[in-house]
This record gives sequence, structure tokens and C-alpha cells, in this order.
Amino acid sequence: MTTVCLLCMKPIGTVLSWQTLLNLEKKKTLCDGCSNRFVRADIIEEGTVLDRVHSLYAYDEPMRDWLHQYKFLQDVALADIFAEDLNKALSGEDIIVPIPMHPERAVERTFAHVDTLLDRSKRPFRQLLEKRTLAVMGEKNRRERLAMEPLFRLKPGAVIEPVTYRLVDDIYTTGTTLRQAAQLLKDAGAVRVEAVTLIRSVQK
Ligand SMILES: [Zn+2]
Repeated sequence: MTTVCLLCMKPIGTVLSWQTLLNLEKKKTLCDGCSNRFVRADIIEEGTVLDRVHSLYAYDEPMRDWLHQYKFLQDVALADIFAEDLNKALSGEDIIVPIPMHPERAVERTFAHVDTLLDRSKRPFRQLLEKRTLAVMGEKNRRERLAMEPLFRLKPGAVIEPVTYRLVDDIYTTGTTLRQAAQLLKDAGAVRVEAVTLIRSVQK
């Protein structure tokens, strides 16, 4: 079976070896050229509300391209590229919680991109948060409310245990989203809240 690179569509040559025969070799999703463009940054930040954030990649050109193609062109297969990375970064016993889609963007998108990343990473997760709906408001009023009101609430019936939770988001920019989610979980009884994001974007 011929596999093609998920990004450039060039066929990936498979060399038959005892590893492939025994299924020990990792399934390649990218050609070597595309794969070499992604360089791990592993940026770690520590704070109070949000105890620790581990971002796997910097927001460089390859990641910008990937994010655009994945999120906006909705190329769901691109989640596979980072499945292995996320699987490793999310190891342990912490409860994994994806950040739900932002209400502003839910309209433009048809798939839950963070959930899909987690699905492909083969890590179990719990959807404990939901976005708050801000219906029946004028546009100006709505923007003002979005700025000061919490973005999320706990899902009905969600039980928060006195353990460590790990939030997952695709990109970490100002941190408002992650901090709000962390505060919500802590107010509900979480002992510690960490986060893993695929990308860290530093605002200039
Ligand atoms: Zn390629």
C-alpha cells in the first residue's frame, strides 16, 4: 500500500524491513522534507491560576501553515501529524479536558478541532466545559459582555474531583482562555490545573 504525505501529497517510500513486517515501525504521516520543517520548541510556563503550560511548538511558519490547513480548510487528517507528540505529552493519570470551541468561532467551523486532536492522540478525555451562549443581544452589548463575562461553565452534571486536570488547546496566545478554564475547575475543587497546547504564539 502506498501512503502519501499529508502535506505535500508526495508518495512516502516504504522500505520493507523486519520492523515494518512486525509492525514495530511508526506509521509515517509526512515525507522527510515536510517532517523536518517541524521543530519542537517545548516551551514551559508556570503560573498561579494555571499552574503549568507546556507548548510543544512555537508559532513558526510550518505551524502557521498547518493550523490554517487544519482549522480553516478543515483538513481533519492533519490531526494525525501530531498524534504521537500529544500522546507522549499527555501521558500520566491527570484528567484531560479539551477547551471547547469559542462561541465566536463555532459558527465558522464544523468540527471540534481540539477534540479531534485528542481522538487521534488516543488519550481519553472528558468534556467537562461548555461555552456559554450569549443569545439575544445587540452586537455592541454582546462584545462588551464577552470581554467581561466568563467564557465557559461546567457542563451539567460535571463532577470535579480534588485531582490534577490537564487542559488541552491548539494554540496558547494571551492565556485568557486557559486561565478562565483553570479558574473554573479550581473553583469547583480541582487541586491543580495544567495545560498542554500544540502551539505557543507570543504576541508582539
Ligand atoms: Zn511532504
